[in-house]
Amino acid sequence: MSTRYNELLDATIHHLEDLKSHGVRNVAVSQETLRALAQSAIRNPQSPIEKAAAFAALRARALACVKCPHLASSRKNVVFGVGSIDAQLMFVGEAPGTDEDEQGEPFVGRAGQLLTRIIQAMGLQRGDVYIGNILKCRPDIPGQTAGNRKPTTDEMATCIPYLHEQIDLIQPKVIVALGATAVEGLLGKTIGITKLRGTWKTYRGTPLMPTYHPAYLLRNQAMSEKRKVWEDMLAVMEKLEMPISEKQKKFFLKA
Ligand code: URA
Repeated sequence: MSTRYNELLDATIHHLEDLKSHGVRNVAVSQETLRALAQSAIRNPQSPIEKAAAFAALRARALACVKCPHLASSRKNVVFGVGSIDAQLMFVGEAPGTDEDEQGEPFVGRAGQLLTRIIQAMGLQRGDVYIGNILKCRPDIPGQTAGNRKPTTDEMATCIPYLHEQIDLIQPKVIVALGATAVEGLLGKTIGITKLRGTWKTYRGTPLMPTYHPAYLLRNQAMSEKRKVWEDMLAVMEKLEMPISEKQKKFFLKA
């Protein structure tokens, strides 16, 4: 994308210089075009500093978002995302729960702690990857300050552009979609996660591995289910050309 952006930029500069050499001093540009150009610059940062600035600008926009007034009024925090903006691996979950809403960070509750252990079992730390959600606000349960529910289709459609922009900026090599809602948000598929998990999909050209949400593993403690998620993570590690030890290969296999 970056190369194409540079080509377009070069072509535009060439065209403007050509006009100038023919005596043209002013070029009319519509507000719409100016806005599109500004967006394009944000989405195609040319240096690490521009990338960090674009990410900070995106974060600021998300933190101030009131597009879902019911969620904006019930939330304690917007849960934007956490981790390295240069991560090769990105995990995408559903939406913040009570703990995440309290702390403003995704996956910090019980399911989050399990996700952290999975990441560590892969030989990584939370700071090595990027963790985000389809929805940035806790899906409210009217009259309750705790608990959550599945995001509605409207809420997902409203919030997803922030995640698209996060992914565009980070450009991870692999995305892991945690659970059916993450798959639905990213791929628009509503097929059961049991059928999808463990099979490579593609999100705008980036390999995407659907797997079970860690909350499912907390509900279903069977070794076989843990092993399935672990096999998905082994596939992710292989795709990222990460070293895999004999010990890692054997996790959750019966002795
Ligand atoms: N579940 C999610 O899907 N996301 C979180 O951030 C926490 C729990």
